Amino acid sequence: MPKSAVTRLQPPRGTHDLIGEQQRRHHFVTDTARAIAARYGFAEWATPIFENTEVFARTLGDTSDIVTKEMYTFSDRGGESLTLRPEGTAGVCRALVSNGLTQTLPQRVFYAGPMFRYERPQKGRFRQFHQIGVELIGPSNPVVDAEVIACGYHILRALGIADEVRLEINTLGDDESRARYREALVAYFSEFAADLSAESRVRLEKNPLRILDSKDATDRAIIADAPRLTDHLKPGDHAYDFHDSVKRALKRAGIPFVENPRIVRGLDYYSYTAFEFVTERLGAQGTVMAGGHYETLVREMGGPEIPGVGFAAGVERLEMLLAAPPLAPAPVFVLHADGKSALDAFNVAQGLREAGIAAEFYYYPDLGGGLRRANKVGARAAVILGEDELARGVAQVKDLASGAQSEVRLDALVASLAEAR
Ligand code: ATP
Ligand code: MG
Repeated sequence: MPKSAVTRLQPPRGTHDLIGEQQRRHHFVTDTARAIAARYGFAEWATPIFENTEVFARTLGDTSDIVTKEMYTFSDRGGESLTLRPEGTAGVCRALVSNGLTQTLPQRVFYAGPMFRYERPQKGRFRQFHQIGVELIGPSNPVVDAEVIACGYHILRALGIADEVRLEINTLGDDESRARYREALVAYFSEFAADLSAESRVRLEKNPLRILDSKDATDRAIIADAPRLTDHLKPGDHAYDFHDSVKRALKRAGIPFVENPRIVRGLDYYSYTAFEFVTERLGAQGTVMAGGHYETLVREMGGPEIPGVGFAAGVERLEMLLAAPPLAPAPVFVLHADGKSALDAFNVAQGLREAGIAAEFYYYPDLGGGLRRANKVGARAAVILGEDELARGVAQVKDLASGAQSEVRLDALVASLAEAR
């Protein structure tokens, strides 16, 4: 077959490989988030990448984007309906119940990993993407909501992108105030029913709050004058006072925020606090981190009624905001001048690795080629060995940043390269 007849395979639409600088950015984001979350007492959990479909279908809301059109659901060979996880919170709450941890509270959970949604791929929107997130399960306390937001803000600061984002917060009220609000929304949107998108007309029947999250342009214009939940709350109402306490705690912690009464979030399980960290730099994909407070999720998984609060951030969106790519590791290159020195050079490289120094063995007896390669990959030093050096128990060490070269005894090599680091 002629070569051109074989199509070159590509990754599936909306997915990408993580290689080189992209992988370093990815690790920098997840490692930083994990380290900061650990300072707040969040321990990492890993839940399965697929779950029984009902874990998501039961909880995310049957009018949410995810459940109506984005889930990767399939039957396995045993006929089970499984779904690749579209988000992390439902799996964590399922795991809390499955592992009998509902009496061991609070649980502070960090997670990181791939999520899957069948979406139209575009900048900052993929079919396999990655999230880092936390869940703090147990207390229903406004200061705890603020603490989770503080952790998110701290992660953004540690990534050096806190100035690129704005924290917006809202309250979704409690059952009682939301029921009142729902009526007001139905009354308002019913007047515009003919102009609403088909999707929002369905939502008007099933879950009018969802309309507020519509991305349709005509819907957005109608939404602009819709009643606000905060207009249905007054001092003394539990949800009002809760929200007020969250705001006071944020102010006390010096975390800047604005109130945005339009935030509803894409998932149905939130009540009380909802928040988003948004940027102007990513167009329509401006939400980089988002979360809120939930009351019923653990019960939906078959556990007792235990509240929680958490957030998730899109790793790819955070990566796009990073100013400089994290540096590549700078190894030491070990070169040999002639074929007879190859095994000794290999052995020197092994010695450096055993001592904790990243070393690359250049396997051709070619100093010129080795030095070019070492410079190309950003090596910090070259250790050069030949018959003459080996006979005297020394190596030439060239600092690749300054170009300075010196002779170092082989038994002092580890110390000299460790110092130079
Ligand atoms: P959007 O409004 O952009 O669709 P969402 O409300 O669906 O976001 P969440 O379910 O709250 O998002 O997920 C939390 C975060 O995960 C988002 O703020 C975003 O950073 C990231 N995220 C969500 N969907 C995608 C995707 N398809 N590709 C990349 N990142 C995503
Ligand atoms: Mg979405």
